[in-house]
Amino acid sequence: MARSRNTIQMMKTVTTIVETRELLDALRKTGARIGFIPTMGALHDGHLSLVRLAKQHADFLVLSSYVNPIQFNSLSDFELYPRTVEEDQGRSADAGVDLFFHPSTEEMYPVGDDGERERCKVKAGSRSLGLCGASRPGHFDGVCTVVTLLFNIVRPDVAVFGEKDFQQLRVIEEMVHDVHSPVTILGAPTIRDSDGLALSSRNLRLTAEDRFHALYISKSLFHAKEVVAKGERNPERVRKMVIENLERSKGLRVDYVELVHAETLRSAQSFDTPVQLLVAAFIRDVRLIDNIRLLG
Ligand code: AMP
Repeated sequence: MARSRNTIQMMKTVTTIVETRELLDALRKTGARIGFIPTMGALHDGHLSLVRLAKQHADFLVLSSYVNPIQFNSLSDFELYPRTVEEDQGRSADAGVDLFFHPSTEEMYPVGDDGERERCKVKAGSRSLGLCGASRPGHFDGVCTVVTLLFNIVRPDVAVFGEKDFQQLRVIEEMVHDVHSPVTILGAPTIRDSDGLALSSRNLRLTAEDRFHALYISKSLFHAKEVVAKGERNPERVRKMVIENLERSKGLRVDYVELVHAETLRSAQSFDTPVQLLVAAFIRDVRLIDNIRLLG
């Protein structure tokens, strides 16, 4: 249980590992529990909901904002990724973040004695193999690597990840388990706009017309949930129905639609265990993902 805050602290922005360590080491000695929210910035209400959840489990909140180059599959996706650092600092401070960690790539991936960066990487486990891992080779190795670096820098007691990136959450849980990391991982529910679209930093790249097409994603998920609630129990029929619904939009290209076991992410053959429906689709060159629990 987190201690109550009786003083209003000013949020501090830090860009170096040394300063972050110094601050957090001193704090840890007071017995404070450290909560951590890793992000790539361009903060929206989805990110802030993670801050609110972390607050319930920690005394001191660290939010990192770092667009991690090694988890991108295309240079243009990396370069076009929205960056709104000043607004992010304001939003973080208002939400109760105590330390805003905003490192450079030089800081995160130092050059080794052979002149190379990013020499050592963490290989993601078996949960990374399908879904986004199949469409984006190396993506989850990049995610696991940066999360490991960040965990080693921040050494949090608890870290919060969004269910919006459902596979990422499960991959991180698997990594923490496999490497005996002491960090407790919490999952936070997906926050949506009032029209149903899951909040995402990439939504900033959508035009009004793109958004119209993007809405087919959440609508198809909600429809599938309804159909299963009414008794449909054939995963493959649900999958085909979702693909058909998505393909009604002429401005959307399906990357994948999968029904999987909600813990292991293995392909769901029945509804005897909790089933998660996951979708990835492109609107022009913007790749969006979303998911929903169907049963369980
Ligand atoms: P990102 O900045 O996209 O890397 O996301 C940072 C964290 O925020 C990840 O744990 C995401 O899963 C989470 N997140 C992103 N969008 C949402 C959302 N709409 N609802 C809840 N969590 C989210």
